[in-house]
Amino acid sequence: MTDPLVRRMRPFGTTIFAEMSALAVRTGAVNLGQGFPDTDGPAQMLAAAAEALRGGRNQYPPGPGIPELRAAVAAHQRRFWGLEYDPDGEVLITAGATEAVAAAILALCEPGDEVVCFEPYYDSYAASIALAGAVRRPVTLYPGPEGRYQFDPAALRAAFGPRTRLVLVNSPHNPTGKVFTREELALVARLCQEFDAYAVTDEVYEHLIFTDAATPHLPLATLPGMRERTVRISSAGKTFSCTGWKIGWASGPAPLVSAVTRVKQFLTYVNGAPLQPAVAVALGLGDDYYTAFRDGLQARRDQLLSGLADAGFGVLRPEGTYFVTADITPLGGTDGVEFCRSLPERCGVVAVPTQVFYDDADAGRRLVRFAFCKRPEVLAEAADRLRGYAKS
Ligand code: GLN
Repeated sequence: MTDPLVRRMRPFGTTIFAEMSALAVRTGAVNLGQGFPDTDGPAQMLAAAAEALRGGRNQYPPGPGIPELRAAVAAHQRRFWGLEYDPDGEVLITAGATEAVAAAILALCEPGDEVVCFEPYYDSYAASIALAGAVRRPVTLYPGPEGRYQFDPAALRAAFGPRTRLVLVNSPHNPTGKVFTREELALVARLCQEFDAYAVTDEVYEHLIFTDAATPHLPLATLPGMRERTVRISSAGKTFSCTGWKIGWASGPAPLVSAVTRVKQFLTYVNGAPLQPAVAVALGLGDDYYTAFRDGLQARRDQLLSGLADAGFGVLRPEGTYFVTADITPLGGTDGVEFCRSLPERCGVVAVPTQVFYDDADAGRRLVRFAFCKRPEVLAEAADRLRGYAKS
C-alpha cells in the first residue's frame, strides 16, 4: 500500500523525543533525553489551577485567551524586557509555543517562501515549515574555540534572499544552550530590515540564562526597528515546570498577531481553560521565584557538567536552557544516533543525538544532548552510570 501521508510530511518520522523517552521506559534507563522537569512548578500556580478546575472554569475560554492571562503576559514582558504590548490585540494565548510557532509560519508563509533558521533547530520548526510548503534555509551553529556555539555571519547573510519571508530565532537555544549576543542579534535585525522579512522568536527559555553567560537575555523585538516585524513567542512549560500544560503565547504588532490568530483559531481554537488563570498567577510571581528557578538549574547544570567531564565527554558549557551538548569523540563515538541507541544498554542512561536537528548531519554527528532539569539525586545516578561507559 502506498503511504497515505502527504509527501511534504514523509521525511518526518516519530520525534526523537518520543523515541528516546520510549527507550528509557523500555530499558529502565535514567531519562536525560526529553526535556521535562521531574518536579512540579510553583505551589501558588498549582493551587490556582485546582481552584479554577473546581470553580467551573471548564468551558471554552475566549479565542485569544482569557483577559487576565493576556494582561499578565503583557505585564511580564514590560517588567522583564521593557516591551509594551496591548493585551487586547497584541497578545494571543496558544496551545504551547509549538502551536504559536506553527500558526505564525502557516500565517505568514506562502508555498515556496523561505524561512531562515539556525541549525540544530527545534524539530517542530522543520515540520511547520514543511506544512506551510515553505523552504528552510538553515545556518549552522558550530562549537567555537571556547565551546560557545557560533555562526559565520557571511553564511547568515547568504541565507537571506528575495524569497526570504521570515527568520526563526530561538535564544536561549535548544539544543546548544547558546545565548545569542547583541552583535549576533543586531546582524539578524539588519538582515530582516534589508530583506523586509519578519522575525519569529522562540524565547521559551527566557528565564534560563545563567549568571556566567556573556550576554543577558535580549529579545530581538527590543532592537531598533524590530518590534514592528517580530512575533515574539514564549510559554509556561519551561519557566513554571509544567510542560504538559501547553499554555503558550505570541505577542507582536496587531496585524501580525491578527494573522497568527486567524490560523490558530482553526488549529485548536482554544485550550487549557482552567490552566490559563493559573499561568496568570505564575507570571506575576515575585523576582525571588525567577531567581531561585535559575539558580536551581544553574547548580544542576554544574553538577551534570562535571559528571559528563568525569565520564570522558567533550563537554560544551551552555549559557542558557536546561540542556548540555557533549562531544562523544573522546569516548570513541563517531555517530550520535548509534551512540544514543546503545547508551541505555551500555550504561542505563538516555540522551538525544543532536544530528537529527541538522540538515547538515555531519555538523552534529558527534554531538549528543543531555537534559539537566532533573532532581540532583537523578543527575548523580546518571553521572555514576555514565562513568561506567568507558568500561562497558
Ligand atoms: N522541548 C523538549 C525537548 O527539547 C521536549 C519536546 C518534545 O517532546 N516535543 O526535549
